[in-house]
Amino acid sequence: MSTAPARSCGSCSLCCKVLRVDELHKPMGVWCSHFKSGVGCSIHGSHPASCNNYQCLWILSPTMPDAVRPDRCKVVMSIDDGGRRIIARADPAYPDAWRQEPIYGQLKAWATAYWFKGRTIYAMVGKHMWLITPKEDVDLGEPDERSPIGYEVGPDGHLKVTVFPPVPEGVEFDPEAVKAVMGHVPPR
Ligand code: SF4
Ligand code: SF4
Repeated sequence: MSTAPARSCGSCSLCCKVLRVDELHKPMGVWCSHFKSGVGCSIHGSHPASCNNYQCLWILSPTMPDAVRPDRCKVVMSIDDGGRRIIARADPAYPDAWRQEPIYGQLKAWATAYWFKGRTIYAMVGKHMWLITPKEDVDLGEPDERSPIGYEVGPDGHLKVTVFPPVPEGVEFDPEAVKAVMGHVPPR
């Protein structure tokens, strides 16, 4: 999808399937109509800016092994929201791919390293989403992307997670409003 500074995509095109492309009204989890097998992007050069600008974590992290190139492990990992979220999006044809090693171990290691540092880790299959914490993976269902997610740690050590109603278009998400109800607010 993009030209990388240290690595190239090679024969991988998985982001053309798993990512949403707003300019094309392309939903997540389905191949872009401009993707041609064996060719790649059939409108390369006039493809949308969001495609041109996209770089997955495998591209950005030269130390990640070749085995986790997205078309090989069936998971596209992205850093999002100004660095506050890491999202592992599995190819819907391989919905358990994010639970396989070495991807799952990497997600847990990030969750452990970043849980108290303002960066949250998610897995997605289509619109279905999981919050990955050091201790557990919380099934969030299919939350609206404008829905704030709040959580608090219960006395048993497990999380209570609330998915709030979507923030209307044009209204800024107010983390303090969620904090007033719940203990913490993972950035979205
Ligand atoms: S998922 Fe990553 S490696 Fe694959 S085509 Fe997209 S940017 Fe390139
Ligand atoms: S326009 Fe091209 S680069 Fe963008 S998603 Fe479609 S096939 Fe991929």
